[in-house]
Amino acid sequence: MKAVVLKEFGGPEVLRFEDLPQPKPATGEVLIKIHSVSINRTLDCIVRAGKYPVKIRLPHVLGADPAGEVVEVGAAVATLNVGNRVAVISAAPCKTCDACLRGDESHCVDGKRIGIDRWGGCAEYIAVPALCVVRIPDDTSFAEATVITRHFPMAFNLLVDKAGVKPGERVLVMGATGALGSSCVQVAKMLGAKVIAGAGTDERVELAKSYGADLGINYRMHDLANEVMRLTDNQGVDVVCENISDPTLWPAAFASLALNGRLVTAGAHGGGTVALDVKRLYMRRLRIIGAAGTNLTDVEKRSTPPVREKSAPSSIGSCPCAKQRKRTGLSNRIGSPEKSSLTRHRSNMAKLHVSPGHRTLT
Ligand SMILES: [Zn+2]
Repeated sequence: MKAVVLKEFGGPEVLRFEDLPQPKPATGEVLIKIHSVSINRTLDCIVRAGKYPVKIRLPHVLGADPAGEVVEVGAAVATLNVGNRVAVISAAPCKTCDACLRGDESHCVDGKRIGIDRWGGCAEYIAVPALCVVRIPDDTSFAEATVITRHFPMAFNLLVDKAGVKPGERVLVMGATGALGSSCVQVAKMLGAKVIAGAGTDERVELAKSYGADLGINYRMHDLANEVMRLTDNQGVDVVCENISDPTLWPAAFASLALNGRLVTAGAHGGGTVALDVKRLYMRRLRIIGAAGTNLTDVEKRSTPPVREKSAPSSIGSCPCAKQRKRTGLSNRIGSPEKSSLTRHRSNMAKLHVSPGHRTLT
């Protein structure tokens, strides 16, 4: 099979399009013919550059989130059949550690990630554990499934499992047009929160509003904390979703928190070392919560897409009186007949989708 092979770390020029033996599915695995995979800033570009904080064994094949069609089923796999359309969850839990045994794979201590700890999906075929594979609905494209599976489980983990967002709470999402940020905007809306999108340009702020944010702030042009307080009647936000760790932005995001607020984070591409106002932390009873994984069940969660306001509100200070959003329970498949607004927003997918068959960014 053809694959994009990494034999030395460096810029894009170190990637080689070469022949590799087609993998065979081991016991408990399936072989997938890959149709789509995304390119991630950290899990692909940083890994390729040799700057990822985990040792990568060379040669390596990148690609954390392939989607495709099952073409061979290994022994002891009862849940999948040849011909199934599927997406792969990058984090493969060990299923034997204490965390896994209590059903919390997000805290697995011995997981193996597809595209990091084992070869990924920048290839024609991949063999992966069946427990890392989810079936996708017929009306969800492979590219859509790649993006949903990659980012929405983490967004659920941050906002549901870690922050415990409740209907009517105010949530500030930093980097709201990034892949994870745009997922967080939509998950927060699904949870019934009032969302403020933080982004670095006016155009990005408007983009975030187009997929559900109630309000937005260009944090490169305005004082973020002051704007948040103005928009929330000086209360602040209950939750900040901060996945940038830019030393110039993080303190303002932290200062936007309301009393008893929570800041959740799973990213540090903006630097990673930031100043912390400890007095504010304890005086306002704040919490900072890190996350680095997802639960398999997070992939299966869905709800209705956000109900759009007819006109944008000018303030969300009166959130307890906010109109209740129509919600449904969760079901066990990704995507939905309605599909999330991210999957309908093609510009978000286009920057992520790459087809191995064409070897070009689309
Ligand atoms: Zn485990």
